[in-house]
Amino acid sequence: MPDIPLPTEPLPPPLPERAALFLDFDGTLVEIAPTPDAVQVPPTLLPALDRLAQRLDGALAVVSGRPMKDLDRFLPLPIVKVGDHGAALRLGPEAPVIGPNLPVPPPEWRARAAALAARFPGALLEEKAHGFVLHYRLAGPEAGEAARDLLASMVAEQPERFTLLAARKAWELRPRGVSKASAVAALMARPPFAGRVPVFIGDDATDEEGMAEARAAGGIGLRLQDAFGTPARLRAWLEEAVAQAAEDDASAGSGAPSAAPAAETGRARRAPPSDIPPPPKPSPEGAC
Ligand SMILES: [Mg+2]
Repeated sequence: MPDIPLPTEPLPPPLPERAALFLDFDGTLVEIAPTPDAVQVPPTLLPALDRLAQRLDGALAVVSGRPMKDLDRFLPLPIVKVGDHGAALRLGPEAPVIGPNLPVPPPEWRARAAALAARFPGALLEEKAHGFVLHYRLAGPEAGEAARDLLASMVAEQPERFTLLAARKAWELRPRGVSKASAVAALMARPPFAGRVPVFIGDDATDEEGMAEARAAGGIGLRLQDAFGTPARLRAWLEEAVAQAAEDDASAGSGAPSAAPAAETGRARRAPPSDIPPPPKPSPEGAC
């Protein structure tokens, strides 16, 4: 046996200066759950995302295959959100949801998908505005094969309008023309994302497109399993980035030499004049 144990966990890279952060939700920010409604959002995640978005001048987006209403329910934060794999994009809590005109699956397809879900106990049909997902995590591989075959046959009827997507223990029928790549490209073309270094972090096949787009734009694409190992380690990394920003702010406020990273943070720019006491900062849950 070697004297020095080899590291067993990946070491995440530091967050680049002037990053624009794109984060998948399921399996990335939160652990995969038996059903989509059962995911647990750790209480420390919300303040970490909120503060990190402030540090990045708002250049933080959650990019998910989920409908926007799910993202609002699980992440009640005034951050940029992209739902439905890029079909729904919202720049702020008061902003309208925007997106391209997309085809809608025929009702008969939804009925056939529902019938399949009813045939396999544990299978679940998740409806979306422009498609649907058949989850087979609780139903077994036979249900997965049946779901894949059914959705593939539908796509074959209208291959120019729809495509089939393999998710984690699920098959999804979605419209062509949008993806997490198109969402990243759309956001990187506008403030506050434009001019920053895109960093996309995700865990499954749908995220590969977002990662590729980030890399093509000179940024970084990180597969969660490779770069972090688990959602818990990603969350710790996010909280560390928030703590680092607080340290930068503290050193900038103490008269220490003004480092470029601290000076360019949104928090530094939004700092109140020195004759006005800053508001108390809320502590993350678990801190004393
Ligand atoms: Mg995911």
